[in-house]
Amino acid sequence: MIARVSLEIALRKEFDYLIPAELVGQVEVGTRVQVSFGVRKIFGTVTALAEESAHTKLKPILKIIGAQTLVTPKVLKLARWIGEYYCCAPETALKSVLPEAIRKEKEGWKKQLFVRAMHLSGEFPKLPKRQQDVWNIVEERREILLAELLELAETTAATVRKLEDRGLVEISSEISERDPYARETILPTQNIVLNPAQSVALEKIKAAMDEQKSEVRSQKSEAGNPASDLRPLTSTFLLHGVTGSGKTEIYLQALAHALEQGKGAIVLVPEISLTPQTVERFKARFSSGKLQTLVAVLHSHLSAGERHDEWHKIRQGRARIVIGARSAIFAPVEPLGLIIVDEEHETSYKQEEAPRYHARDVAIMRGQMENAVVVLGSATPSMESFYNYKRGKFTLLELPERVDDQKMPHVRVVDMRQAAHKEKGTPLFSPQLKEAINQRLDKGEQTILFLNRRGYSTSLQCPKCGYVCNCPNCSLALTFHRQEQKLACHICGHVEKVPLVCPNEKCRNPAIRFSGTGTQRVEETLAKLFPKARIKRMDADTMKRKDDYRKVLGDFRAGKTDILVGTQMIAKGLHFPNVTLVGIIYADLALHQPDFRAGERTFQLLTQVAGRAGRGDVEGEVFVQAFAPFHPAIQYARRHDFNGFYEQEIEFREQLKYPPVSRVALLTLKGRNEEKVKFSAEHLKKILESKVQSPKSKAAAGETTLDIGHWPLDLIIAGPAPAPLLRAETFYRYQIMLRTRAMSALSRELARLIQSLALPEDVTLAVDIDPVNLG
Ligand code: ADP
Ligand code: ZN
Repeated sequence: MIARVSLEIALRKEFDYLIPAELVGQVEVGTRVQVSFGVRKIFGTVTALAEESAHTKLKPILKIIGAQTLVTPKVLKLARWIGEYYCCAPETALKSVLPEAIRKEKEGWKKQLFVRAMHLSGEFPKLPKRQQDVWNIVEERREILLAELLELAETTAATVRKLEDRGLVEISSEISERDPYARETILPTQNIVLNPAQSVALEKIKAAMDEQKSEVRSQKSEAGNPASDLRPLTSTFLLHGVTGSGKTEIYLQALAHALEQGKGAIVLVPEISLTPQTVERFKARFSSGKLQTLVAVLHSHLSAGERHDEWHKIRQGRARIVIGARSAIFAPVEPLGLIIVDEEHETSYKQEEAPRYHARDVAIMRGQMENAVVVLGSATPSMESFYNYKRGKFTLLELPERVDDQKMPHVRVVDMRQAAHKEKGTPLFSPQLKEAINQRLDKGEQTILFLNRRGYSTSLQCPKCGYVCNCPNCSLALTFHRQEQKLACHICGHVEKVPLVCPNEKCRNPAIRFSGTGTQRVEETLAKLFPKARIKRMDADTMKRKDDYRKVLGDFRAGKTDILVGTQMIAKGLHFPNVTLVGIIYADLALHQPDFRAGERTFQLLTQVAGRAGRGDVEGEVFVQAFAPFHPAIQYARRHDFNGFYEQEIEFREQLKYPPVSRVALLTLKGRNEEKVKFSAEHLKKILESKVQSPKSKAAAGETTLDIGHWPLDLIIAGPAPAPLLRAETFYRYQIMLRTRAMSALSRELARLIQSLALPEDVTLAVDIDPVNLG
């Protein structure tokens, strides 16, 4: 027998190996193996079994990894789809479906020494005091970890060995499961009686789950788009509910329904929201009762050993519910009844290295492949998901109000152009915000100040009138290259000089150059303005260690800090009852990122941040400082009007053919020599242009239309242009942006093109399908 093996080296090729006699019957599709390749020993996954091979002199498989098939056939199929759709080597896709700890199986089950009380026959011996003390503990506990016993009894192993010699105890080495949440006390919870809006939503989800159970659906379009398939995906739900509207309670009751059906479920949560409190809510509901099950947790802060154990609890079917970050979508839950993606709009669901998959879209695909219902939840759904609802692909469920009848906080937009008139330079704090902070300090209430400053690129905006320098072709903010004193568009490559005065006829401000501001300057200025306030800063610079985050938030919760300053790190999911004021220093910084999603991000951010205020008894207040106070993203967020925002935003996307109206593939060429990178990018663009021209002329002659075997006819090619962030790296990057509605066809053609493309040795090409960051 022969096994076809996908090796963990990105060769886009599979290799045949012999199954040696001693391993016959143990090798299946999905078995992890180690084989020799040249002089190296390499891990791989069996993708098929065959009777014969086109090659002779096959080498044997060296060994098998793991006691069970590690990649289940369903997950294997999902990995194949990822390779095709995201245009990456199949080996790369396959590699990402297993945690490192499982792939290499370095970390096995942990064995530890246990001490067990033995059944006694005959008279109990008279023991010396020390031994008697030890015995008392063992007798009471029946079985105890040796290490724990030594600590409790304050004794040494020798004493315990003496008890073993007397036949009173047995010391043995056993598997001890690592439980990352062992130290948390988990109190069981019961279902809460749902309000009418929640009940309607839950009933619809349950009905779809029941239908999935009875209906065997055809499984077509393996390489199709997750969401642009022609068949309506009525079993994908978009749960749009404001913060605190009871979404999590719906998740919990839907999970219970999956268990009742004898199925398991996956819950995806953004890494940053995967706090012990979140995990505890899920564990607590299923820790007892007739639906009791283990809830496994998968995220990046687990040790390799913990990850190994959590994963195997799922594989063995003992943990039927999995909660985790992005990669938990590959958890081997079987059968799978339900997938929940909380905060579906979060960009952290997208992996920024190959395979560049989006966990939400993989979830939709997996749901379709395995007949599982998918629920996407958010207070601010992504344009993509809402568009899919509008086009009949998703079913919308709405929770328009908070469960506790709390009001949405009052949002005030402060026009910074007025503040700028009164002060020299660009002010950080408007008089209104200063006054509001002062009031909070007097009353002993807390304030969160927020500055969205990411990356190094910045746009050019007039601090007096709010004018922004935009690209004439792409309608996106131009990037200000300070050193060269020029403005550039990184989508189409348009370049212009920095204006000396504001281009707005009525303004003509000579001080148009917007000076960048970091959280550090905010902190310093605050300290001067409010010398008595206790201020803490939270951003990527101050949060270097894992514990910093907990510590700062712990202090804030305990009321040891008056004002917390931070970046988007503090925008999400945190609940502080004593915070009654939230200030956004420059809303424009998010608004004029050179990205077509800048408006959407700003809307989401303002809505999320506003949700932080007034979670307690006192109504909250939000100040949004902006130089463009009438921008729709700010105005709709102020009114908490998602639908209004969507309607005007989708018009802009339609006009310029940006997603979700089209899909984007971003090709990035990278290298140390700028000339070479630029040349390669231009060369690649020429090839792409020649590819689309030929089918276009064919179409003109009436030959083909949107043929999936060819380059899509609606392809728009923009660039090459230098990527906006050069960072501190010494690499030059040029990008080409492709837009089409037929992404599957484009991916397939791109994969073929890449294989035949000859790039200079020190230039690399990365393909990002459906990118979430255009940087
Ligand atoms: P979301 O996930 O939308 O932010 P949660 O599910 O966390 O909202 O609900 C917010 C709070 O309200 C939680 O403490 C939850 O236990 C509680 N809650 C949810 N549904 C109800 C209900 N129907 N009646 C009373 N309290 C509820
Ligand atoms: Zn442009």
